[in-house]
Amino acid sequence: MGLQSSLFRGDPTLEACAVSDPAHIMLGAVGDHVSKIQTALIRLDSATIDPGELAAKRYGPSTAAAVLAYKKNPRRNIINRSYQTQADNIVGRMTIAALDRELVGNQSRPLAKDLAVLDKPLTEGLIRNALKALNDIEKDIRILESGASLSLGTPRWDALQKHFHLQFQISSSLGRALTKDDLTFIKRNYQEAANVLNNSAFSFDNGPPVKPGSAASGSFDQKKIFFSPLYKDFDTPDGKQIGPNSRAAIVIHESIHLVDNLSGDDTKTHISEFDPRYETMSADNARHNPSSYATFAWHVTRGHDQSRFGLGPARGM
Ligand SMILES: [Zn+2]
Repeated sequence: MGLQSSLFRGDPTLEACAVSDPAHIMLGAVGDHVSKIQTALIRLDSATIDPGELAAKRYGPSTAAAVLAYKKNPRRNIINRSYQTQADNIVGRMTIAALDRELVGNQSRPLAKDLAVLDKPLTEGLIRNALKALNDIEKDIRILESGASLSLGTPRWDALQKHFHLQFQISSSLGRALTKDDLTFIKRNYQEAANVLNNSAFSFDNGPPVKPGSAASGSFDQKKIFFSPLYKDFDTPDGKQIGPNSRAAIVIHESIHLVDNLSGDDTKTHISEFDPRYETMSADNARHNPSSYATFAWHVTRGHDQSRFGLGPARGM
């Protein structure tokens, strides 16, 4: 009986590996079969594999290290005791069988693009809440400009200050005075992010992780979000979990990359909500920061800001 998982089944090189010792796969190999092994390691073990090796479909040092870690995992402990006492970094008959068996057990759970589609209602709701908060801020301004009094101690104004560093009429160390153009600009970005979700049949695609550990990456040029096998529920090395709430934040973040071509500058506009610089970035840069959009939406949805969702040291479900 050949390989069973949808990822491996029918691949001639992998099928050969499953039945023939000399057909084992090792350091230096290149091709689609290597890419499938890398995908399996990421899917099953959240393995960190060098982006260059992923792009080249090459069994390089980081792929070999991920294979070794997979085999050494105490719940597997894959050693061919007929000729060795320790696990090695080669994919042979035992390893391909174990990977295949685990993939079969795993494949009924959606991940990557399929899971992002399931996360759409939550994500769309967050964007709707953000737009409603911005419309309510516009109403607040009209009331205040008419001379009536109104408390600004509401989550929407708190969120506007925290994530976009904008506040009513005054400029201070916490942010600058909000303008009509700010509101128009931020609302348009949210509306276009909503269009990205509406258009998910085209705009959601699968792809390898662009950076180690990255669950998704949005491309302004290609107008697509590429979801990696890491887009799933997973435990991170610091023990925190990524779940639906964090994934929805990730989708908003990536959608902004598709609609705002200034959103990817790592020194100015692309500042993680978990980075200390997030608290001090200028309002002009925050308008383009994808993390500001994701975190503002969660802030107005929950009415508070802690702890934040997304990919970072403070991430939660
Ligand atoms: Zn980003």
